Amino acid sequence: MSSYTVTLIPGDGIGPEVTDAMVKVLEATGVDFEWDVVEAGEKALKRDGTPLPQAVIDSMKKNKVAIKGPLTTPIGGGYRSVNVSLRQMLNLYASIRPSRTIAGVGTLYSNIDLVVIREATEELYSGIEHWIDREHSAAETISVVTRKASERIVKYAFDYAVSEKRRKVTSVHKANIMKTTGALFQEVSQKIAKNYPSIEFEERLIDNMAMQLVKNPEAYDVIVTTNLFGDILSDLCAGLAGGLGITPGAIIGDDIALFEPVHGSAPKYAGQDKVNPVATILSGEMMLKHLGEREAAERVWNAVYDTINEGKVITYDLTEGGRTANRVKPSKCSQMADEIAGKVRKSA
Ligand code: NAD
Repeated sequence: MSSYTVTLIPGDGIGPEVTDAMVKVLEATGVDFEWDVVEAGEKALKRDGTPLPQAVIDSMKKNKVAIKGPLTTPIGGGYRSVNVSLRQMLNLYASIRPSRTIAGVGTLYSNIDLVVIREATEELYSGIEHWIDREHSAAETISVVTRKASERIVKYAFDYAVSEKRRKVTSVHKANIMKTTGALFQEVSQKIAKNYPSIEFEERLIDNMAMQLVKNPEAYDVIVTTNLFGDILSDLCAGLAGGLGITPGAIIGDDIALFEPVHGSAPKYAGQDKVNPVATILSGEMMLKHLGEREAAERVWNAVYDTINEGKVITYDLTEGGRTANRVKPSKCSQMADEIAGKVRKSA
């Protein structure tokens, strides 16, 4: 049987609780993991004087696969976001956010299965911005879209669609107004789509896409887009499918992949064994697929689905909404993880 060494960054706030839960569930699959635990964020800052020690970068470069809990980013000062630094230093360019409905979670629609694939290095987040004058009477942010990065992300989306057996890729842009950056992304999408005749291809303008996703989300499948549009659409999709507690994510480069929940470090709940571990467990499920452990990934997904669907051992955020609304006593994070791990073991 294969054995995998994976970099594990427990993270800040609720990070250690949700990553412990993920480890418990992934180990229940029987897949053999060795966890190379390294600290980033607040703990690393206290111990090593930096929120991103070189040991973290070295470990990720060596192991190629990493999973992390959320990291706290100080607002309006302090150190730079470790998440942004990691992306730039390791050239992680494809952000993948799947959103699937799980019966039992309170949502508007019951059949959502969307994946937003977002270019994560450029466009309006290129960091090229300045005030026009000393009085701050105006400001400019420059959107850089390159052919190379656009081709890379659109190709990634089509390859993902093929390997995940998805039916359609929708390219989202605003080429009618942004006649250079938008048009470039559109042109590249159309060109690359021709190489994938088995995958249906369509385009949507970002404004129309936002409305379509709210009115008719079941009609969409894989969505590929640039940085800012993707940031917004992936949160919209997460909201449609049930919110932060259950939404996993990954950020992937040519040879390194990092998996992490979409939510933050929720400092007010830290150490209370209270929050929902599912977003991190499903990030682990994405990692299992990435490693080629598809059967184990499916067992994890089914165990998560059945646990929430049964609605007996679920955390506070799930007891407050959805089918069981306030009729079930909330379980702890660790209890929900035990329940899911137990189901994974039984499915062997
Ligand atoms: P947050 O996601 O930490 O929390 C917002 C609210 O969402 C929480 O108060 C809680 O009610 C709920 N929530 C979050 N995760 C949950 C879970 N697993 N189960 C149940 N409820 C959950 O967002 P925030 O308060 O804006 O950010 C806190 C810190 O996290 C900030 O420092 C921010 O920069 C950081 N952050 C980090 C990442 C990351 O590392 N990838 C992502 C987002 C935010």
